[in-house]
Amino acid sequence: MAELTSTQAAIQAEVREICAQFDEEYWQDKDTRREYPEEFLKALLASGWLGVLIPREYGGKGLGMYEAAIIIEEISKSGANAISCHAQIYNVAMLLRYGSEELKQRYLPRIASGELRFLAFGLTEEAAGQDTTKIATTAHRDGDVYVLNGHKNWLSRAQHADLMLAIARTTPLEDAHKKTHGLSAFLVDLPAEGLHLKPKPLMMNIETNEADFDDLRVPAENLIGEEGAAFRQILSGVNGDRIAASSAAIGDARWLIEHATKYANERVVFERPIGQNQSVQFPIAHAYAATEAASLMRFRAAEKYDRGEEPGPESNMAKLLSSEASWEAANAAMSTYGGAAFARSNGVERKFRETRLFLNAPGSNSLILSYLSQHVLGMPRSF
Ligand SMILES: Cc1cc2nc3c(=O)[nH]c(=O)nc-3n(C[C@H](O)[C@H](O)[C@H](O)COP(=O)(O)OP(=O)(O)OC[C@H]3O[C@@H](n4cnc5c(N)ncnc54)[C@H](O)[C@@H]3O)c2cc1C
Repeated sequence: MAELTSTQAAIQAEVREICAQFDEEYWQDKDTRREYPEEFLKALLASGWLGVLIPREYGGKGLGMYEAAIIIEEISKSGANAISCHAQIYNVAMLLRYGSEELKQRYLPRIASGELRFLAFGLTEEAAGQDTTKIATTAHRDGDVYVLNGHKNWLSRAQHADLMLAIARTTPLEDAHKKTHGLSAFLVDLPAEGLHLKPKPLMMNIETNEADFDDLRVPAENLIGEEGAAFRQILSGVNGDRIAASSAAIGDARWLIEHATKYANERVVFERPIGQNQSVQFPIAHAYAATEAASLMRFRAAEKYDRGEEPGPESNMAKLLSSEASWEAANAAMSTYGGAAFARSNGVERKFRETRLFLNAPGSNSLILSYLSQHVLGMPRSF
């Protein structure tokens, strides 16, 4: 286990205390109703910890990715679905790194205080998939506004957000000197005229949408960084994104391992606890080892990130290892609980559904393996 400083341990304890107010019954109720955990988000926003990455001069906690990782892990370890809120922590990364001082002054204090919910990020499109350069949403300048048109096939939490980071093409692909040129990033105040959401039901309780941008007008000063340079900006944000997703998966894995271990110790069949059988205890122990290893890699990535370096290999490996570890823990818990695993009341099937996401998104593990093959090991590009 990674050693925490006394400050980090205090943050972890504070977040744990907030999350403890929301028990399994609360999460199951939300899951059954497919309802957004509004009360939970409010409690976390009020604590200020979702503004962990925002510098103190803008009203945030002024801490780093290491502390963000601790917070996100603690949220999902409590049994919560961290996807409901973790965007508030890391969506600010691009604004912090590339936004104008005027934009930072205007938005960051209100994000840090929780007045603005920065929960939406509009990038993915049906035809482009993970090939971001192929997105077709356009943004054209019309006086002092940009006008956005297009369709996003995944836009999570937008109905609960006051702010969205949207990516669109300011130069059409055919006119760009490189395919990575011509993408731009915008801060969009929500709700916005010209944004039409169509909720998309999922296998777990995450509110996501198909979204039409229909002459969505954004003030020109809400462009983040240089026009046409968003691809580089997205890439530099990906490492933080990977560390955040890793931390959510690691928290899930810890919840699942804790529950499986408890059940293995308590459930008696053939006059002995089922955990006495190696076929029950080994998968849990293996998932534990995988989780600890993933956690160390995640913290190594966070340390590098906080030193201002780009932890590409580490953050990608952390996302790969932690998503696999949480999935392993989910399967171990399902097997340990036997038939009881399928009863909704114990929450294992809920976490099983929730944590499966991390193998595919954000960013699929295939693309991570492709990154490691090409950029770290030096094998030929496969696509
Ligand atoms: C619950 C949920 C919420 C989401 N929320 C948001 C959001 O708020 N905002 C947003 O912008 N996006 C969001 N997404 C989109 C998410 O980031 C993408 O689904 C994810 O990145 C995978 O992209 P895709 O679905 O287009 O997969 P595709 O690109 O269609 O790929 C499909 C499969 O093929 C594999 N594949 C494709 N090309 C290759 C290759 N060259 N080599 C090997 N394998 C390959 C992929 O790994 C994947 O397994 C969300 C997705 C989900 C499931």
